[in-house]
Amino acid sequence: MKLSNIISILEEMAPIAYAEDFDNVGLLTGDTQQEISGILVCHDALETVVEEAIENNCNLIVCFHPIIFSGLKKITGKNYVEKAVIKSIRNDIAIYAVHTALDNHKNGVNKIFCDALGLINTKILIPKTNFIQKLITYTIPENAEKLRNALFDAGAGKIGNYEDCSFNSQGIGTYMGNENSNPEIGERFEFVEAQEIKIEVTFEKHLQSKIIKALFSNHVYEEIAYEIYDIQNTHQNIGLGMIGELKEPMEEMDFLNFVKQKMDANGIRHSSLLNKKIKKVAVLGGSGSFAIHAAKNQKADILLTADLKYHDYYQAEKQLVLADIGHFESERFTKNYIVDFLKEKIINFAPALPESKIILSKINTNPVKYL
Ligand SMILES: [Zn+2]
Repeated sequence: MKLSNIISILEEMAPIAYAEDFDNVGLLTGDTQQEISGILVCHDALETVVEEAIENNCNLIVCFHPIIFSGLKKITGKNYVEKAVIKSIRNDIAIYAVHTALDNHKNGVNKIFCDALGLINTKILIPKTNFIQKLITYTIPENAEKLRNALFDAGAGKIGNYEDCSFNSQGIGTYMGNENSNPEIGERFEFVEAQEIKIEVTFEKHLQSKIIKALFSNHVYEEIAYEIYDIQNTHQNIGLGMIGELKEPMEEMDFLNFVKQKMDANGIRHSSLLNKKIKKVAVLGGSGSFAIHAAKNQKADILLTADLKYHDYYQAEKQLVLADIGHFESERFTKNYIVDFLKEKIINFAPALPESKIILSKINTNPVKYL
């Protein structure tokens, strides 16, 4: 199986367009035309993990955190990043990072976190804006159904739990072609009033080229009338963090112990308890102090995240409990999800990579140790 095929599957799981601007996701080392013999999935692609890949005859490492994050000016092997990069390139091992592309996905890092705690009624905590565009186009009634279906197939018309969403209205379009025109209805230099259907659909902006391609391949006009707009609405299925509910409210201390056990946390640092039961739980895997405001706004009883600093805890202000369960711990099940996703999708490829060639790393890359 070629690396490019596996990248398409990874893009389906975590579209690069979902990643934060500061991030460095996607293919970090390697050649997309490379034949892949095995995939090792890990949290951090350290040098020891590259060695593990070599031992297991894997020439692709899919990591959660990008090992190359802020750019490399020299590659001499004098720090842990350069060592990992040198070893991977010398051994023809490709490295692909998903990070915030998966953080921002509705089935990604934070859904995995919520599922581990059995939360229900989950939704994105901080939904993204500027991700939606709208296409408006005009065509003859006979072409409307075919054109709509092609746009849906290209990814348009998805809103929350609904697909094939569009708005269609009827009206009169007018035009007159010049000497070089070849109109579908009417003649050159003829003023035409045609019955037209106006089709309106929304789509995620990174799909724009696919949508335009579908529009141009399925429209019957010589000159296609269309408009694309940026939509300011938030996208309810893309964004950081998640909020959900416990099936049954729990006492604060019971809940913290439950989290400790479910997430296999070595310790939890938290703000003052409020002596009220926990029902609404906000989560943000990884560094999440920026989510405190959103968690308060959404009336969460607790925010589970990591990397909270001393002054962050003051922001609890008796409105919720802030709990730091550890960075690695809050993201720990992400790699299992990636392995399962790859196995399920790769089975459908011919020739597929055997399931036994998609491996979960056994190395614990958590740099934080506890007494
Ligand atoms: Zn992280």
